[in-house]
Amino acid sequence: MSFSSLQRKRFSRIPRSRLASLPTPLEEGPELPGGNRLLVKRDDLTGLGMGGNKARKLEFLCGAAVAAGADTLVTVGAAQSNHARMTAAAAAVLGMKAELVIGGPEPAKPSGNQSLSRLFGANLHFPGTDDWNVLSEALDELVANLEAEGARPFSFPMGGSTPVGALGFVNAWIELMDQCDENGLAPDVIVHASSTGGTHAGLLAGRSIWLEEGRRVPRIVAVDVAKESEDLRGDAIRLAEGALELLGRSDVSIPDYSAELDDRWLGEEYAVPTEAGDAAVRWGGSTGGLVIDRTYTGKALAAARAIETDSLTGPAESVLFWHTGGHPAVFAEDGLPITENELSKEEV
Ligand SMILES: *Cc1c(COP(=O)(O)O)cnc(C)c1O
Repeated sequence: MSFSSLQRKRFSRIPRSRLASLPTPLEEGPELPGGNRLLVKRDDLTGLGMGGNKARKLEFLCGAAVAAGADTLVTVGAAQSNHARMTAAAAAVLGMKAELVIGGPEPAKPSGNQSLSRLFGANLHFPGTDDWNVLSEALDELVANLEAEGARPFSFPMGGSTPVGALGFVNAWIELMDQCDENGLAPDVIVHASSTGGTHAGLLAGRSIWLEEGRRVPRIVAVDVAKESEDLRGDAIRLAEGALELLGRSDVSIPDYSAELDDRWLGEEYAVPTEAGDAAVRWGGSTGGLVIDRTYTGKALAAARAIETDSLTGPAESVLFWHTGGHPAVFAEDGLPITENELSKEEV
């Protein structure tokens, strides 16, 4: 076992609410175009109100909320925020309230993640903008109002990306390394979608501990689906350092070059589909029966498919695609790159 028993013990003392079905399966995916192996880490199957990577962060965020005696979870997200939906599910499980600040206009009829958030009993607030800074200010205002009303709110930012949230992905790293050991697997590279950096951060922190112990580790390529890549890389490194500090491992450093961020798949901007991403959505569905969304996993899977021969990131033979979820967005308007009569029209 790579993670020393002392560290495992320390980790086990950090407050955690058991919300996810773990470990998630590590499966053989469809063969890559060049004939190489694709492994898929099925974090779309974490459970908790339809699954996704946020379940892992929420285990530790909610652990902290419960420890603080909170009665209301408060967070913020984009119109089709998976994080907001899963926060609503976590609140339902824990017998708390959920108050969600949601980007974009309030739709006449909710769909996808918003419908589920309502189903899970959350209150949705619509400041009427997509500006992440304005939404974050709305979050702070909401928290202040709730406190004034006598509630005990516990809030976390977009994506649940704090050092505490990132612990969920340090745990995920350990889980994956255990699975690889048990099954004799040694992927060259892990590819995943990154938007607020918490997933990347946790994996990076775990990887750095393994590296420190002189172990062979896969590279991690985070695929930027959200913002200015230098900002996102900085966020990931800062969050990884914060997570290491919580684990008592401030001695472990995160070299800048280890935080690989591939920003060639984002396209116009966050949540705007791309041709390559849509091709990956269809490829994952038609060759692997995988449900891939257009905002996150489609763009990341496009990168994973191309990495066999990628001269920029360096080619990789055995690729692990970390499926971070996003299923409900598929049922939102324009959630899939197909119309009913178009199922097999385009080449994938
Ligand atoms: C939030 C999310 C991501 C990105 O995770 P971060 O930790 O915010 O970078 C990737 N995929 C899906 C489906 C998500 O909902």
